Order: sequence, then structure tokens, then C-alpha cells
Amino acid sequence: MNKIEHIGIAVKNLEESNKVYSALLNIAPYKEEEVISEGVKTSFFEIGQSKIELLEATNPDSPIAKFIARKGEGIHHIAYEVTDIRSEVKRLQEAGFEIINETPKAGADNKWVVFLHPRSTNGVLIELCQERRGDSDISDTGDNR
Ligand code: ZN
Repeated sequence: MNKIEHIGIAVKNLEESNKVYSALLNIAPYKEEEVISEGVKTSFFEIGQSKIELLEATNPDSPIAKFIARKGEGIHHIAYEVTDIRSEVKRLQEAGFEIINETPKAGADNKWVVFLHPRSTNGVLIELCQERRGDSDISDTGDNR
């Protein structure tokens, strides 16, 4: 794994939280993006080599809505940047980690993403992400788009 790419924070109201994090970090978000398949609206702040991703649910079935209902606002996941997401998935599977989606899917901020279940990572939802250069930059993408 290359670095912590970002930390995802579940928020109730993205606009309000954008103001809070803009004031905290003294920068504006560089991007806002809706990921319809995940039921979230996101914004990103860049801090050196890493980012903060704020996530607001767009419907009650969204994983973010469920997370906030259970735990309230707060840190939702830690994302690690990888160079070859498929080989990392294979390596982690062999090491006994529980992979939520074995087939990488298109996530926010132009990334291929795979999630590891918090059951196998001491209660922390882990995201692996690989920069997405095109639709054919990972092998055997299948119908994950
Ligand atoms: Zn993320």
C-alpha cells in the first residue's frame, strides 16, 4: 500500500460540514461529487499527500444513513492507495481478510475501490483505492460499472 489516500467522515449535512472543514483546514473543497450507486454526496479537501472525504447520505438506505443511525457522525472509513488493486485483493484474501466487493467498483474522485469488512480489521471499514485512468485500466473489469 502506498499511503493513506483519504479519511472518510460521515456527516448529516454536507453544506454545513463543508463550512466547518473549510474553516478548520483553511481551504475550500476541491471537488464535490455524487455517487448515485452508493447513495452519497461527497466533498474532498486536500491536505498534503492525503485527503478528507465528507460523505452525506442521499437516501435512507445509503450505507452512510445506516452508519449515522447506528453511530452518529464521525470517521467512517480509512482509504489506502494501492497501485494494483486486484493483486492487493488477492493478497488480502489469502491473508484472511474479509473483502466486501471482490470486483473493484467505480468510486468517487476517479478511483477504483474495494472495501474490507470492519469485522476483519479491528472495527475499521477499509477502502482500497486505485487511480482510475480509463475504463480498461484494471483487468477483467466485468460488469462492475
Ligand atoms: Zn472513501
